Amino acid sequence: MKPQETKSTLLLKHHLKALKLPTMHSECEKVAARCARENVDHLGFLLQLCELERIDREKRASERRLKDAKFPNTKTLESFDFAAQPSINKLLVTELMRGAYLTQRESIILIGNAGTGKTHLATALGVEACGQGKRVRFWRVTELITHLIEAREERQLLRLKNQLAKLDLLILDELGYVPASKLGAELLFDIISTAYERTSLIVTTNLPFENWTEVLGSERLTGATLDRLTHRCHILEASGESYRLADARRRQTPKTSHNRAKQIGESTRKSKGV
Ligand code: ADP
Ligand code: MG
Repeated sequence: MKPQETKSTLLLKHHLKALKLPTMHSECEKVAARCARENVDHLGFLLQLCELERIDREKRASERRLKDAKFPNTKTLESFDFAAQPSINKLLVTELMRGAYLTQRESIILIGNAGTGKTHLATALGVEACGQGKRVRFWRVTELITHLIEAREERQLLRLKNQLAKLDLLILDELGYVPASKLGAELLFDIISTAYERTSLIVTTNLPFENWTEVLGSERLTGATLDRLTHRCHILEASGESYRLADARRRQTPKTSHNRAKQIGESTRKSKGV
């Protein structure tokens, strides 16, 4: 390589770094060599580099969105066994995965007993939304309430509310496991009201609607919360048994049949005098 070329490559890399184009920075020489071999013209070379930068940038942004969403784990729809939970409306879940509800600012409520896959599905929908370029945040309701109360004490409530208002999708997991205090219920209601028709919500709960007063305390607040939540919302109900319980049972079954096979084998051997 001529000294002149080395100098211009160095300078180019310096510019690319300053312009925050890391993929062009790392790939420019490789792509230039390939384009020279394949007789690709200058504009073709620039096009290839720009495409690489855009693909990488989208990948990095998607990874950042996933990190910011703070999912407890990254469950996907591929690992969800609909046959194990036939009460879940598979058609509706598949439709929701496409994300039109997010553009329409609609919400989703997942109702069912513990272990029926509510958090799994809420996470899968959230992960998919991140992939579609949406800003998502996953909160367990009890943790969000604690966070809201702390923010209020530290005069940071407005800041937290502004952060939540920037989201496209707010996931509220496990509404109903622990009753909220009066202040907690009011702060939660405030978040739900602010999100109304602006941010999509996914709420998972083990409680039928008629029991929500147990969590939110006052009937007035429960009525107002339900009024907002259930307007323009999709309801997914899981009425089956816990997946963990069924899974544990499934794991035991082969062992039992294995033991039985062993017993049968032994008795056959005995009867044959082996
Ligand atoms: P819930 O939130 O309703 O209490 P989870 O979503 O936490 O239940 O499910 C409990 C565990 O069982 C998780 O590890 C989840 O991935 C798994 N699980 C639940 N339902 C299914 C299913 N239908 N297919 C695959 N895994 C499931
Ligand atoms: Mg759950």
